[in-house]
Amino acid sequence: MNRAIVWFRQDLRLSDNEAIHDALKHADEVLYVYVFEDLFLKSNGPHGFRRTGKHRLKFIIESVEDLRLNLRSKGADLIIRCGKAQDEIFKLAKQYKSSWVFCNRERTSDEVKIQDKLEQNLWSVGQEIKYSRGKMLYYTQDLPFPITHSPDIFTNYRKEVEKITPVRKPIPEAENYKYAAKDIESGEIPTLEDYGFEQIPSISYSAFPLKGGETAGLDRLRYYLWDSRLIDTYLDTRNELVGVDYSSKFSPYLAQGCLSPKVIYHEIMKYEQFYGGNKSTYWLYFELLWRDFFRLIAKKYQNAIFQPNGLKGGRIKEFKEDQKKIKDWTQGTTGQSFVDANMIELNATGFMSNRGRQNVASYLVHDLKQNWQIGAEYFEYMLIDYDVCSNWGNWNYLAGVGNDPRENRVFNLETQARRYDPENKYVDLWRKFEKV
Ligand SMILES: Cc1cc2nc3c(=O)[nH]c(=O)nc-3n(C[C@H](O)[C@H](O)[C@H](O)COP(=O)(O)OP(=O)(O)OC[C@H]3O[C@@H](n4cnc5c(N)ncnc54)[C@H](O)[C@@H]3O)c2cc1C
Repeated sequence: MNRAIVWFRQDLRLSDNEAIHDALKHADEVLYVYVFEDLFLKSNGPHGFRRTGKHRLKFIIESVEDLRLNLRSKGADLIIRCGKAQDEIFKLAKQYKSSWVFCNRERTSDEVKIQDKLEQNLWSVGQEIKYSRGKMLYYTQDLPFPITHSPDIFTNYRKEVEKITPVRKPIPEAENYKYAAKDIESGEIPTLEDYGFEQIPSISYSAFPLKGGETAGLDRLRYYLWDSRLIDTYLDTRNELVGVDYSSKFSPYLAQGCLSPKVIYHEIMKYEQFYGGNKSTYWLYFELLWRDFFRLIAKKYQNAIFQPNGLKGGRIKEFKEDQKKIKDWTQGTTGQSFVDANMIELNATGFMSNRGRQNVASYLVHDLKQNWQIGAEYFEYMLIDYDVCSNWGNWNYLAGVGNDPRENRVFNLETQARRYDPENKYVDLWRKFEKV
């Protein structure tokens, strides 16, 4: 009797899940586990911000609840543990007497440390980790270049992959989950309060009022493409700032793996076959390419994305750190109304538009002349859709330490506000929130 554990990480879904598929191929009995990881939920980053704030934690809790419900509806269950994955999974592996732990392979340093420690622990009892894929549109082995030679410039990367490399078909969902828990306790899903957060009041005009989880993610995908056909006008609306529908809002679902990028891609293709494609339908795919690009850059350059000089390397720059300026930036009290509105929105909802992110980042780096790493760490804390590669990759870009072919990507805040918020609707909306 071969037993396996599926350790869910940022792949909180049943559809197109390679780890589940691989476990079921190898094992007669399978245990499904999620660990609320202390490293990300209980520790602080180098500048003192918590690694995970309340908005993302709420989204994760909802996603795990949904995953458990979906597994239960298939006659299985999700075992929950809180602590260090390297210890919790190891304890379960010993108790369950499994042969393997199947999980998504992560590539960034903290995540790698956890999986490496777990792997070493498992070796001590003759068990192994088996890694699966599924975070990107493209499998690296399908790309027309090895990772070490992947283009540093996005346009070159896009041109090399988009016409040539097929996006693999999603893996069909399992019919039999071969679940057998033996006498293993299922465990309770923690609450926001367990991590010292209060409940979050809902805001009627939030740009992200949606719930976490695969069910909500697939609903949003269906809505954005088929029900509303908003995808047809995505290119025209994607730079707007107010409301839920100016952009897809897929990012939190992608970050926790509630939605698979391959599933989104093939749904766009189906949509294009049915209704015909246009610049907007293409552009949604184009943005997913950015996501893949930053992931490849993180694989290629590894820890460089977190370093002061980023991908550029070389002599370490001396960055200023003025605590008053940094506090004003994080709290939305700089006096620059467009920046402040965006930061207030971020703090209140965990979401900020792409336009907003570019502007507040530029302001921190070029106007306030503060260390960009603080901005990246604050985003890590606050963003509901924080994704290590997309966040640090974009910050490298904005701070001028990445691989942007354009030098000095400085945003003029006044011009940007006039262009994207000509009637002050956005600024007024979040100023109102401040006064509540
Ligand atoms: C400083 C900065 C930090 C960022 N941090 C993150 C982050 O932590 N997590 C994150 O998912 N995105 C991040 N982004 C990228 C982008 O702002 C968000 O993906 C987007 O705003 C999410 O909204 P949406 O899903 O409605 O996007 P849409 O406009 O609908 O785009 C569809 C999808 O394409 C991908 N995408 C779009 N733009 C980018 C981009 N610039 N880089 C990478 N992927 C992109 C996302 O997966 C997104 O869900 C950051 C951008 C900046 C400028």
